[in-house]
Amino acid sequence: MGSYEDFYRHSLDQPDAFWAEQARLIDWERPFDQVLDASRPPFARWFVGGRTNLCHNAVDRHLATRANQPAIVFESTEADQRRQYTYAQLHAEVNRVAAMLRELGVGRGDRVIVYMPMVPEALFTLLACTRLGAIHSVVFGGFAAHSLALRIDDARPVLLVTADAGMRAGRVIAYKPLVDEALTLAQHPPAQVLVFNRGLVPGTSLTPGRDVDFATLGAKHEGARVPVEWLESSEPSYILYTSGTTGKPKGVQRDTGGYAVALAASMRHIYTGQPGETMFTASDIGWVVGHSYIVYGPLLNGMTTVLYEGLPTRPDASIWWRLVEEHRVSVMFTSPTAIRVLKKQDASFLKRHDTSRLRHLFLAGEPLDAPTHAWISDALPATQVLDNYWQTETGWPILGPVPGVQARPRKLGSPGVALYGYRVKLLDGLSGAEVTAPNQKGVLVIEPPLPPGCLSTVWGDDERFVSTYFSSFETPVYNTFDWATRDEDGDYFILGRTDDVINVAGHRLGTREIEEAISGHPAIAEVAVVGVKDDLKGQVVMAFAVPRDPTRLQREEGRADLEREVMDTVGRTLGAVARPARVHLVAHLPKTRSGKLLRRSIQAVAEAREPGDLSTIEDPSSLEGIQAAMKARG
Ligand code: ATP
Ligand code: MG
Repeated sequence: MGSYEDFYRHSLDQPDAFWAEQARLIDWERPFDQVLDASRPPFARWFVGGRTNLCHNAVDRHLATRANQPAIVFESTEADQRRQYTYAQLHAEVNRVAAMLRELGVGRGDRVIVYMPMVPEALFTLLACTRLGAIHSVVFGGFAAHSLALRIDDARPVLLVTADAGMRAGRVIAYKPLVDEALTLAQHPPAQVLVFNRGLVPGTSLTPGRDVDFATLGAKHEGARVPVEWLESSEPSYILYTSGTTGKPKGVQRDTGGYAVALAASMRHIYTGQPGETMFTASDIGWVVGHSYIVYGPLLNGMTTVLYEGLPTRPDASIWWRLVEEHRVSVMFTSPTAIRVLKKQDASFLKRHDTSRLRHLFLAGEPLDAPTHAWISDALPATQVLDNYWQTETGWPILGPVPGVQARPRKLGSPGVALYGYRVKLLDGLSGAEVTAPNQKGVLVIEPPLPPGCLSTVWGDDERFVSTYFSSFETPVYNTFDWATRDEDGDYFILGRTDDVINVAGHRLGTREIEEAISGHPAIAEVAVVGVKDDLKGQVVMAFAVPRDPTRLQREEGRADLEREVMDTVGRTLGAVARPARVHLVAHLPKTRSGKLLRRSIQAVAEAREPGDLSTIEDPSSLEGIQAAMKARG
């Protein structure tokens, strides 16, 4: 692997030298005394004694050289709005919001829940929090009151910042009533609520003594200047809950200095965005990709970030590519799920705009199946489409490509190699022995210390941090709860969640391999595969597939044919053991708000059990579809 191999080895063999070098990518108010303190494993503290601030590095630092460069370009196809902020304007807005928060009593170490749509004021709020040393915790706008209340009780905020409403697919989703309800459900509600009124819901009511109007308070603080609060590197910057795909979400606690360095380094080595260029991350601030690559990564790097409120398919499926053309986007980031949505539409939508400046499109969050990877690569001939694998916990990729260090041949179906700083291993799920032979399955683990940027602990629960992540094997390694193979070149292939492994008569099958085989069928748009209890075989494979042509769901005859064809496709590609016992055609699949398949809920419904924690589900009616399919077809 030539020079990347050297780079990688250096990061593991001389971590102090390696990370001290990366730490020069950000400003320190006080230099650190020690690169790494790993004296209390598995906890790690990076850049000990150093003092810095995320907001300073993302905003103030650029004023000298890029005051007039756009920092944020905002477009909402939902509310039909466009706004732009230069770094100088962003600086002014962030200072103003920091002054507002300060007046409401927010200070260093206080928690602030941000329950906002994708509007610039949400970004101002996040940056204002980090400016003050307050800890933000973003909850996906529009999450149910119960889900919001759970996170409030875990984070115990002094303030909640919200808006009257968000919009999705042309529908107004009123947030304020959800907040009001969550505050009655919560045991530890914040004393104050700051409400940004977008004018989407006439007559949004404010509770006197508790609720404060954003614009009114903002008018008071026009032109305010609030000094940056310098934090010790390990002081928390934010709390963010995992997607809840496999169970109850975990509150990931992020530090300050390690995160800033990790993101700045990732922009250079992985995402290759140049200062002054534009990055468009089509995601949501409610999940980790939004934190790292809508907000902090591009701004730390002096780039322009595109903030887009809307769907990839409205007004039509060319909208993203219009944004790419207009804003001269050179780096883009989204999820495979979103690309699968576009794949259901005509590919000509991608040809309507000039996308020739788009160097890289990064995809993460779910397995990127080879047919989808090939489809989007063909549709964007000037763009390299690259997978990368990570988690809320890590804040930046674990496995990925490294175009900033070395061009490597792309392998469809693989996110790439172990990234610098991560000592990645595969362990046998049963014996815990290391799997070293190529192309053998194992659980993907990371040897501590985790590199900079990764979670410092579970918020308020060090014990849960250790017991959740470091206690699966005899040796204390970080468990990703994903399983994978590695080939001769060191490229990894993710096979699925360890929870989702299907055991058919002693054969251990990954959901990914079967789903990939099915998604190769031209009539299938999306599929979820689960293992369902079976008296004879232990488990059998059951597939729920969404046809590209929805009318196939209505025609009974064509439906049975397609179901059989899908079974045959799997039998042919993977052999008889993997052949699904049943294939059900459905209109939708249940997913989390961040676009992940909720296989555990599908499996529960298929086994006639309760679906479990649904606090992060996008559309509860999709589970009813699964239920109906099970009832109808037995
Ligand atoms: P929870 O931990 O609450 O169950 P979650 O694991 O879905 O939820 P996230 O942190 O949002 O929460 O997702 C990380 C997971 O997403 C990874 O562990 C992996 O299963 C999956 N994933 C992310 N990127 C990729 C990728 N490029 N290829 C395959 N899987 C991916
Ligand atoms: Mg997880």
